[in-house]
Amino acid sequence: MESIDALSKKLSEYLTGSQVEQVNSAYEFANNAHSGQFRKSGDPYVSHPVAVANILSNLRLDEDSISAAMLHDVIEDCGVPKQVIEKEFNSSVANLVDGVSKLDKLELSSASVLQADNYQKMILAMAKDIRVIVVKLADRLHNMRTLGHLSRDKQIRISKETLEIYAPIAHRIGMNNIYRELEDLSFRILYPGRYRRLRVAVKKNRGSQKRLLRKIQRVLEKQLVEDNIAAYIEGRDKHIYSIYRKMKQNRRSFGDIMDIYAFKLIVDKSEDCYRALGAVHSVFKPIEGRFKDYIAIPKSNGYQSIHTGVIGTDGQPIEIQIKTEEMDDMAENGIASHWLYKSGNSKETAPQRKARKWVAGLVEMRNNYENSEDYIDSIKTNIFPDEIYVFTPQGKILELPEGSTPIDFAYSVHTDIGNYCKGCRINRKLAPLSVPLESGQTVEILTDRLPQTSPAWLDFAITSRARNSIRHYLSNTKASEAIKVGKKLLEQALSEYNIKLNRRNNDHLSGVIQKLGVDSLNELLEDIGLGKRAGNIVATQISNLMNETDKATSLPVALEISGTEGLAIKYGQCCNPIPGDSVIGHFTSGGMVVHQERCKNILSVREDPRECFPVKWDEELDKAFPTEIKVIAEDYPGLLADIAFSISSSDTNIESLEHNDLDSEKVAFHLFIQVYNRDHLAKVVRKLRSMKRVISVNRIHDQEDRHAKTIH
Ligand code: MN
Repeated sequence: MESIDALSKKLSEYLTGSQVEQVNSAYEFANNAHSGQFRKSGDPYVSHPVAVANILSNLRLDEDSISAAMLHDVIEDCGVPKQVIEKEFNSSVANLVDGVSKLDKLELSSASVLQADNYQKMILAMAKDIRVIVVKLADRLHNMRTLGHLSRDKQIRISKETLEIYAPIAHRIGMNNIYRELEDLSFRILYPGRYRRLRVAVKKNRGSQKRLLRKIQRVLEKQLVEDNIAAYIEGRDKHIYSIYRKMKQNRRSFGDIMDIYAFKLIVDKSEDCYRALGAVHSVFKPIEGRFKDYIAIPKSNGYQSIHTGVIGTDGQPIEIQIKTEEMDDMAENGIASHWLYKSGNSKETAPQRKARKWVAGLVEMRNNYENSEDYIDSIKTNIFPDEIYVFTPQGKILELPEGSTPIDFAYSVHTDIGNYCKGCRINRKLAPLSVPLESGQTVEILTDRLPQTSPAWLDFAITSRARNSIRHYLSNTKASEAIKVGKKLLEQALSEYNIKLNRRNNDHLSGVIQKLGVDSLNELLEDIGLGKRAGNIVATQISNLMNETDKATSLPVALEISGTEGLAIKYGQCCNPIPGDSVIGHFTSGGMVVHQERCKNILSVREDPRECFPVKWDEELDKAFPTEIKVIAEDYPGLLADIAFSISSSDTNIESLEHNDLDSEKVAFHLFIQVYNRDHLAKVVRKLRSMKRVISVNRIHDQEDRHAKTIH
């Protein structure tokens, strides 16, 4: 059993005293919470979280991840609420533990192996913070190492899951050490006979190859010394499962695979990689088409190295990888290797730290890109999917765009399920049809015997499949039915304004209705019933127009925007209004669009009550909106990382960014950031302006700003 004292000692090699203290108290907390619980091996339960923390300490992860490793089972197994962890430790630890617990709750059915790829994406989508994945992988690794105490059935189930889902995730984020061990451990349990035979064969083969390996190594070493290149050479062993996979996939014999001699050449600096390549090619003949330069163009997970294939003196093929120590660390530990380069700012939240590391990694890559298009592509490459992944009651996984609701889900299963949908259950609980779904949820659609399709669904259906199906259904509905539905919707919406249809104000009303561009009330109701107009917006228009003709109350009442209207209200992408801006609503065929009052696109129609009407921000509004800023700065390596850090340190997410070089010294960045209001934006701008080499920071209000060469 691994002891907490040994762990603390190891942690103090790279963490501060108070950081180690935090891990120690996490241990105390877990020890109390798990007291009386034992593992199948008979060890006290707490030995498991300690071992997981120990695996992560080898990767030199930060104190919050290691504390979360200590606490990773206390929510699930001891019923400790997340809030308690947040209070005892901090929100970062609490979010990590919560994230790992959510993954634990995923029931991977036996059908899952068929959808392994979707499972991997679902897990990545659910994690949000990459450290959740890293902790989960360490947890899985320790469980695999100690699987021997479980029943054979369980061993097989867990090994299959590891091989199909968790090992590929480790591979995907570049954690190759863990990836290889997970594969070999699973392989050993699933095919004990094949594993044993291969292991014996590999061992025997290594013995017989020893002399030849040493000979090749000596030739290489001699040339490197002559060329004055500091390097060390390592033989590379393939892990057993990868040999098995190659034999199976390529139908090659064990001998064919093992006859390839593989070396790793580690040099000091990246320039030396190319010199070392020259040295290798001067002693052994290169094989055509085998040279790959992943230093100039790294793989999307950040992998860098030079690969080449050569023919040895005795005619045997040799594979050589040339890289620096840092690149090698990245290749072995992937995402986790980033934490080696310590972060000092304890105020950063987990996603901010993640974003900063991620961007910092990209900046390193940027220096290696010749043209900026490749660079921008690489920025857009992200390991976290934009989609959400949810289960049907049968355990099938459906992929939907982020923000999808049960209505989108229903139509993606089948058009009829959509049209007859009358309600839904999310994770077995009744839920409204308008609520956005989250990855990992199980969604069940309840249907009626009669079609239920309603134009109101257009307010929250976001997929084109659902929206088109709803519109299609509605347009096939008889006019009389549409009028009935439209009347119900408008009456409901008008009741907010204390206006009633079919009362003595009907004359008054018909005057108003003409101004909306229809000939009769029925036509208007039909439009609403068919989903061509939104009931709540028409109601606001009517109310405004009535107030206007009613000289008694000359000021129209502004509509409050609460940010929860969904698709009924959109925000102008030309001017990107944020709370605090003076805004105005503009009616379009697709609904109402909110613009900044100063936006040039609505200048000509601003005064027309049929086109526009006043809106204002709800004072309680607590939602971030995208806004665009332009930063001009003197260029230097690491500039992007500094800008990203400055922004994320004021609790702000970066949605996207583009850059272009203004001249050889200056560079302009267009950034979309998420802010809560104008004060928040001002804070971000102030921070950026305080950076030494930043020349100007401006908010982009419209197209003209966007294309202006420079703004001061
Ligand atoms: Mn565990």
